[in-house]
Amino acid sequence: MRNHKPILSLVSPCYNEQEVLLQSVHILAARLTQLIDKQIIHNDSFICLVDDGSNDDTWQLIENCSQKYHCVSALKLMHNVGHQNALMAGLNFVADKCDCSISLDIDLQDDLSTFETMLELYEQGNHLVFGVKKNRQKDSILKRMSARLYYRLLQLMQIKSVYNHADFRLYSKKILQLLQDIPERNLYLRGLCANLNCKVGYVEYDIKERQAGTSKYTLGKMLSLAWDGISSFSIVPLRAFTFIGFFVFLISVGLSIYVLASVLFSDSVVPGWASTVLPIYFLGGIQLLGLGILGEYIAKVYLEVKKRPRYIIEEKITTQKAPVAK
Ligand code: UDP
Ligand code: MG
Repeated sequence: MRNHKPILSLVSPCYNEQEVLLQSVHILAARLTQLIDKQIIHNDSFICLVDDGSNDDTWQLIENCSQKYHCVSALKLMHNVGHQNALMAGLNFVADKCDCSISLDIDLQDDLSTFETMLELYEQGNHLVFGVKKNRQKDSILKRMSARLYYRLLQLMQIKSVYNHADFRLYSKKILQLLQDIPERNLYLRGLCANLNCKVGYVEYDIKERQAGTSKYTLGKMLSLAWDGISSFSIVPLRAFTFIGFFVFLISVGLSIYVLASVLFSDSVVPGWASTVLPIYFLGGIQLLGLGILGEYIAKVYLEVKKRPRYIIEEKITTQKAPVAK
């Protein structure tokens, strides 16, 4: 048991969230006050909002919130770098300012009543506590089905992951510090955390409806996250092509022997159109697909070696030491 109350930070990336922001910050600040009153967390605990290059009034509203609630700190990123990188910016920012941190989406679909259990598990020495969705009834059928399929795929590729866990997580200071030293650009935080091999806990919860506004995860962003999840942890797609290549090579050898034998031992050889064209299409297709996958991995290596910053912080707001909410 620790002998002082932990300073907790709540980290939330926000992208074009003007509809939901005020309401959510109000709820989060009230929740922090509650936890402070219950003497579960230190009264220096705070919220960190990361504006992921929004082009609506999100930043202005965050500025207003920081005036109204002394516990609000914030980062404004210059460009939209995506949820994962924005979250990483927030976690790196709070790492030396708190004892533990909880990441959550600003639409508050995650269940804030699990905070107590998460903190209890943290006090018991868990470095990570994963929020696990009990059901996905609030998600669309398409999202539910694609999620299930995706977890299967991860399993098939032997990528360690936590089923039905997104980015609602508690991190200990050790993990926050560790994350500061991870320079990966192709970020898939939930996979990274699942593979850290430290002591972890789980809390189950029911996912809620978005408080307001619409999803900021476009199909493109979702597919790109899914691909990051696979390509950052597995070389199975590349290896699969070595096997497919070998298999196709064996078939070609068989076909060549057949053609040679036909030419040598048969006198009525009329090469058919299909047997000429099909292998060309087949081999061409396989090769292009293989090259594409190879290219994808090379592109990732290329992005990593450039070592460009993951995000650029344009502005920072730090908390004012005072009561949590006015
Ligand atoms: N988000 C972000 N950058 C993006 C897209 C989303 O910071 O490019 C944030 C968004 O503001 C929210 C969280 O990521 O806090 C999750 O997004 P959303 O709720 O739209 O995703 P969904 O719940 O639909 O998967
Ligand atoms: Mg959401």
